[in-house]
Amino acid sequence: MTNRRDFLKSSALLAAGGLVGSSLLNSCGSSATAAPARKSFIGLQTYSLGGELTADVPAGLKRVYDAGYTDLELAGYRDGMQGEYTMAEYKKMADDAGLKISGAHVGPSSRNYTKEGMAEMSEFWKKAVADHVILGVTTIVQPSMPTVTSEDDAKIICDIFNNAGQIAKDAGIKWGYHNHSGEFTTRIMSAADQAEADRIAAERAAAMASAAAGGTAPRMNFGRAPQGTMVEQLFLDNTDPELVMFELDCYWAVMGGQDPVQWLKNYPNRFKLLHVKDKWIIGNSGMMNWEMIFKTAYEIGIEQWFVELENDGDDSTTQFYGVEESAKYLLSRSFVKA
Ligand code: MG
Repeated sequence: MTNRRDFLKSSALLAAGGLVGSSLLNSCGSSATAAPARKSFIGLQTYSLGGELTADVPAGLKRVYDAGYTDLELAGYRDGMQGEYTMAEYKKMADDAGLKISGAHVGPSSRNYTKEGMAEMSEFWKKAVADHVILGVTTIVQPSMPTVTSEDDAKIICDIFNNAGQIAKDAGIKWGYHNHSGEFTTRIMSAADQAEADRIAAERAAAMASAAAGGTAPRMNFGRAPQGTMVEQLFLDNTDPELVMFELDCYWAVMGGQDPVQWLKNYPNRFKLLHVKDKWIIGNSGMMNWEMIFKTAYEIGIEQWFVELENDGDDSTTQFYGVEESAKYLLSRSFVKA
């Protein structure tokens, strides 16, 4: 709370000096509303900061708070620890900085997504969930995709997801899954799809052979072969809505050729969290329709969302700079709830 008091005091001094309004107008451009110092919710996925945060966690978390963030979704849980800290130590540091840890990304240590792997996965999630109860999170999210090559793979994976979801639910935590682009670009053929594709291929080959023998042009209208089902769709279809929710990474959806708004509208009861991610600083690329994404997200009841930045690979800027500039953008937008 010391930090919050210091923040309020320094804000008051800046305002008294007439500095706040002008500096915000300069940095936000003409279309922005005057930016408040804080909003009720602005989340950050701590992966965004990488080593810049782990180098000095207490100081880093205070800087995150000062940028305007209210909530964290952690990354980096391993072997019962959050980096080099116990869960209780990490929670204390977040509390001291004025930040709430509302969620965490957790990747299971096992990749054994088989019927035989269920018991091992179950043990992992029991321990992970118990550890995250210490943090006080309301959500736990698996961040990456197991290998999916068939509908049967997807069904076993979804059984394991449902089981993880039940373990989390028993502890009062919502369990979810986070996409990259592969969930949209990887398409899985069902047996029926494959039979139809094979039939079309055989018809085409026979027509080509017949045309070649007769010296004529081959018939070309064989119909459209099935394209298969997106992995994201298989995960939605094969998980229990009571046990598994979804975090939509809006940027990776776009990179997978999708309109994030349409997915939110199609599955208003499944998407509970967003990753607000852009090419780098939120709002800078112009390729993400944040106004429509936020409008739709609020309409379907999404209250928690987390800014996430990849490392931009540019040594002349820091990740903290990107995280702070992203907060400025979101603080200054009227479409982000006050
Ligand atoms: Mg993400």
